[in-house]
Amino acid sequence: MKLVYVDNNATTQVDASVLEEMLPYFREYYGNPSSLHTFGRQVAGKIDISRERVADLLGASASEIVFTSCGTESNNNAIHSSLEANPQKKHVVITKVEHPAVLNLCRYFGKNGYEVTELRVDENGMLDQNELRESIRENTAIVSIMFANNETGIIFPIEEIGKIVKEKGVLFHCDAVQAIGKIPINLRNSYIDLLSLSGHKLHASKGIGVLYIRKGVRVNPLIIGGHQESNRRSGTENVPAIIGLGKACELAKESLEDYQKRVKGLRDTLEHGIKASISNVKINGEKSSRLPNTSNIAFEYVEGEAILLLLDMAGIAASSGSACTTGSTEPSHVLQAMGAPPSQSRGAIRFSLSRYNSDDEIRYILEKLPPIIKKLQDLSPVFEDSQLST
Ligand code: PLP
Repeated sequence: MKLVYVDNNATTQVDASVLEEMLPYFREYYGNPSSLHTFGRQVAGKIDISRERVADLLGASASEIVFTSCGTESNNNAIHSSLEANPQKKHVVITKVEHPAVLNLCRYFGKNGYEVTELRVDENGMLDQNELRESIRENTAIVSIMFANNETGIIFPIEEIGKIVKEKGVLFHCDAVQAIGKIPINLRNSYIDLLSLSGHKLHASKGIGVLYIRKGVRVNPLIIGGHQESNRRSGTENVPAIIGLGKACELAKESLEDYQKRVKGLRDTLEHGIKASISNVKINGEKSSRLPNTSNIAFEYVEGEAILLLLDMAGIAASSGSACTTGSTEPSHVLQAMGAPPSQSRGAIRFSLSRYNSDDEIRYILEKLPPIIKKLQDLSPVFEDSQLST
């Protein structure tokens, strides 16, 4: 059976040349970078090269790059560390559409002595900048707002947001896990103080993330131990994954221009094809600036889980939203925040492409998807009723 993977916001295939660079670090260069002998020294220098490659993609300095284990850890680290470093400040600002790695962490703090403002978004997924300005107070420790949404691909105007946060003199963290490698990011002249990245979203392996900490920003480490990462994140380094991430960042930088054109072209072909062949569809966030690879489509009056099952039987791997909430029967918190009625949010499917997808694969989806939706709409009593009443 043909297999088509369009769930790249959940995770990506490790690039062959990334794996190639990683393999010697399992076999020959397995030393601990903190060791003073040859085995240790061999790898310590390579970690520094990788750090430079990551910094180069982000427009940062190597000394501002801290390796972590994943995007979730980077988010936890950024927020936790900022709160610890500013114990007198007891207020945090986020949005309602953050990834659970920010949302649930801040809700936890909300039950443990902190006040958390969750900013609303409108039907296009945008926040009100005046509301943001007014939400920041004397005792706000940190504002954490994502670069691009993992479910819809909607991009926040992060520099305008950062400017507002900085005018108030507050720390600004940005979860850029979905944006890096898909759109240009340059931290050199940015208002971002702290930024999260995850390796497995950009063709590196799982088990590696980055927390960017702008020079001069004071944070207390979340993980305390053996002083690795200049005391900012202890624990023996995941050397092969760090090496792989360096290569993945280099590839992402080289392919960024092509990615933005080619992957967006595939995504647009998919959306046009779906709109032309299926009734009662809505592209969530269509009017907003979006990541070039992401399409979140509501198929009205049908259940997302049923669509995914039939797509899977046809060899197509998509998703109904965040991989981290799969299994939950609740409609997506992101679509709910955008005011989508249950008839739409229940049947929302996320197609997220990568540079490995082809025209042929998009044609295959456009061949298989319309009969699947038609079959489910025909089975849906609600759909029949809605057709009668219009
Ligand atoms: N932030 C966003 C926006 C994400 O999409 C994800 C993963 O889906 C994460 C954070 C968590 O990253 P990780 O899977 O590396 O923990």
